Amino acid sequence: MGSQTPLPHIFLVCFPAQGHINPMLRLGKRLASKGMLVSFSTTENYGKEMRKANEGISDQPTPVGNGFIRFEFFDDGLAEDDPKFSKLDEYMPLLELVGKDLVTQMIKRHANEGRPVSCLVNNPFIPWVCDVAAELGIPRATLWIQSCAVFSAYYHCHNKMVPFPTEAEPIIDIQLPGMPVLKHDEIPSFLLPSDPFQVLGRAILGQFKKLSKSLYVLMDTFQELEPEIIEHMSQVCIVKPVGPLFKNPKAPKTSIRGDLMKADDCFEWLDSKPPTSVVYISFGSIVHLKQEQVDEIAHGLLSSGVSFLWAMKPPGKAFGTEKHVLPDGFLEEVGDKGKVVQWSPQEQVLAHPSVACFLTHCGWNSSVEALTSGVPLVTFPQWGDQVTNSKFLVDVFGVGLRLCRGRAENRLITRDEVAKCLLEATVGEKANELKQNALKWKKAAEEAVAEGGSSDRSLEDFIDEISKITY
Ligand code: UDP
Repeated sequence: MGSQTPLPHIFLVCFPAQGHINPMLRLGKRLASKGMLVSFSTTENYGKEMRKANEGISDQPTPVGNGFIRFEFFDDGLAEDDPKFSKLDEYMPLLELVGKDLVTQMIKRHANEGRPVSCLVNNPFIPWVCDVAAELGIPRATLWIQSCAVFSAYYHCHNKMVPFPTEAEPIIDIQLPGMPVLKHDEIPSFLLPSDPFQVLGRAILGQFKKLSKSLYVLMDTFQELEPEIIEHMSQVCIVKPVGPLFKNPKAPKTSIRGDLMKADDCFEWLDSKPPTSVVYISFGSIVHLKQEQVDEIAHGLLSSGVSFLWAMKPPGKAFGTEKHVLPDGFLEEVGDKGKVVQWSPQEQVLAHPSVACFLTHCGWNSSVEALTSGVPLVTFPQWGDQVTNSKFLVDVFGVGLRLCRGRAENRLITRDEVAKCLLEATVGEKANELKQNALKWKKAAEEAVAEGGSSDRSLEDFIDEISKITY
């Protein structure tokens, strides 16, 4: 790093979950490639897994385009195999307690060593990073990793601007600016009084208390996807849609990736399949379906006769869940028509011409990756923003078919429903309509991230602001 003028130094602090690491690291690579020094930080336990799965994770600054990226992890005080996500009520305060102190120390050390931090960026669930920035007098930004629609829902709930469901009145719908009515089962479920993950809802709402102190709210969405909602939210804070972050037209070659597991090779198998014939199935990094749901999906696949690639991750140490089993004789009966892997290289799978549609839990990363790769979705949302994403994918963006409405967690879908839905999304008139819409979004996303496009301009604005602060 022999340059005379120090590069602006952006310090990213990331909640330890795959769905958070991916967009944050994508942002880090973008910023580095545009000439920043980027430090990426999450917990040591996740850091170990990232290191095991990816060669490119180094403590030393690694060149990326015109800048550099480096990794620095902090201890969350838990053993590697602690099932932390099964006891979030205890984990969230612990992470705040140890994280605040350790992140503060890291940033002070950088200042002492001549690499002062110009901006601290966090993502949802760790609003305490804002306090660290405030105490050290460092500007900060947030990377919102969900849709602007979901951001608006949290904003309106935090500020009590419209009535949300309560214990006394659990079944009410809400109307927010620039979007269709959200039925009670389409509202981000962490905001519902009965939701088991309210601790996460509280952590997200915590971010909204500190919103006014944010320099920017960077968002992994794009202007053309949610124009009215973005316009509305821009009146209350500086919203900068910079997505889809996974699409980077000028991405410099780098082996830096954030996967917590090594991806299995799927391409020889995909190459052997006809165009637009394969259903890709994945429920992200956290959702763990009920065994009965896995059984019904498996039987639905068999009776539909479609080819499929199923990413069935093993139970995560952090979740304390049981391994799924496929029905007896399933793999033999499927033969070469189907492939089951543990972890897929999802971005590349979705870009493969053989993929016809994606059966998904509707995490925002998965939703955007599919939508902007031109791949229709079959929606099977489980919780949080997934239910709202499903609503938008189906009713607003026109690229999805519902396997189940609202939270699918407690519903038993049947094999016949699975087969019918997968066939409808793969062949025939409806499949064609969904595909055409998805291709339109793919083009719009490519234009947004291209030089001079809406997302590229937003990122440049952010970089200009940081550069002004630095020099
Ligand atoms: N992912 C992957 N391979 C898999 C499953 C998931 O690379 O087999 C990636 C996917 O591309 C996405 C992330 O993991 O970037 C999952 O994030 P999402 O928001 O979709 O869901 P979450 O895991 O947060 O529920």
